[in-house]
Amino acid sequence: MAKKSSGNGLSCAMCGTVDSPSSPVVEIMPGLSLCTDCISYIDTAAAAELGKRASDSQPAPKAKRSIPKPKEIKEYLDQYIIGQDEAKKYMAVAVYNHYKRIARLDAGEQDAEDVDIEKSNVILVGPTGTGKTLLAKTIARLLDVPFTIVDATVLTEAGYVGEDIESLLTRLLQACDYDVKRAERGIVFIDEIDKIARKSDNPSITRDVSGEGVQQGLLKLLEGSTVLVPPNGGRKHPEQKMIPVDTKNILFVCGGAFDGIERKIAARLNTHTVGYAHNSGDAKKKRENLMRYVMPQDLKSFGLIPEIIGRLPVLTALNPLDREALRRILVEPKNAIIRQYQKLFEMDGVELTFTDDALDTIVDKAIEYKLGARGLRSIVETVMVDAMYEVPSTKQKKFTVDAAYVLEKLSRNPGLNQSGEQ
Ligand code: ADP
Repeated sequence: MAKKSSGNGLSCAMCGTVDSPSSPVVEIMPGLSLCTDCISYIDTAAAAELGKRASDSQPAPKAKRSIPKPKEIKEYLDQYIIGQDEAKKYMAVAVYNHYKRIARLDAGEQDAEDVDIEKSNVILVGPTGTGKTLLAKTIARLLDVPFTIVDATVLTEAGYVGEDIESLLTRLLQACDYDVKRAERGIVFIDEIDKIARKSDNPSITRDVSGEGVQQGLLKLLEGSTVLVPPNGGRKHPEQKMIPVDTKNILFVCGGAFDGIERKIAARLNTHTVGYAHNSGDAKKKRENLMRYVMPQDLKSFGLIPEIIGRLPVLTALNPLDREALRRILVEPKNAIIRQYQKLFEMDGVELTFTDDALDTIVDKAIEYKLGARGLRSIVETVMVDAMYEVPSTKQKKFTVDAAYVLEKLSRNPGLNQSGEQ
């Protein structure tokens, strides 16, 4: 510690400042005194050097790190996502090419004459709860890159109530603790992209300024530019100094249900408009089939501006999940819902079993309540809550859930089918 206060007679070994109330000089170790300005100068220089060394030592191995091949990516996705083979294949190829392109840039293999590989942002079209977010999230985990999910509906044009478009990168920065270099190679999933479609394909009629304005703003991020991102509440950046982030190598994956797009597809294919068929089973089948034929022009008819569509060159559809897929989702994925509950019970030394008819009943209820895959968890949670409460206090070593048990527990929770989930 410094000697006794006020006018302690110490002077800074670096700049010579003599201690005064406005420029305190501190004895930081016997025989070495520094003023507080020089201490903070050293502190900043040390932090900068450490940061530089850390980033100097990182990019090289990162650039060399081998990128999993599309088939390997798909195999990994298969462990977590049921069905949706087409979407998985498209995603695997897009992601592989994206990171191959980055590796090439990192390795400095591209010269001015060389082919410039453009990035391949992805757009996933499909009903809610079919695995769009899960797909993007699972890929990000495989590649160990920062990942964030943002909802397009909260975005507004600058000056309107809502979040600025740049703020969607704030979450990406937060996801990697403000490591800008890492964020610049991350994946951003923009959900509900269909909600910012303008209401009409023709901009001169029913002009929907906010939707189109947001699309224009988004364009800047999708095509790759340096944007100033507000650190926004990040504890480390209370002064809200803007952080420049280059979006050139960020992979954007957009998802949307695009309700009613089947009609646009049908119109294009010149088939009968769906929804008017007498047999609803037939109509459903047609809808499912039609979604597979989605093309960029259908997105335009839906109200996405051509520039946005051009920046989302990889377009693929996800199918609605049928009974069989829901049944498989319960048990097959690596972190399947049933496996999670079995693990929880196992930690209490209890073997948990679901009979086949119990699983069928859970699926039936998810379909009946129109909850889809998203509802499977809430149903199982409702079924299991009593057992999870009671079993740990008993000496029971086995617990079996059958159809009767499922029905009994669900009958006591009539609120579930009004949960509002889709
Ligand atoms: P969305 O298509 O609306 O983005 P999500 O990916 O968020 O749907 O899916 C919601 C949940 O439903 C997931 O967290 C997952 O548990 C389950 N799920 C949906 N689709 C699948 C699928 N194809 N395979 C496995 N689980 C799925």
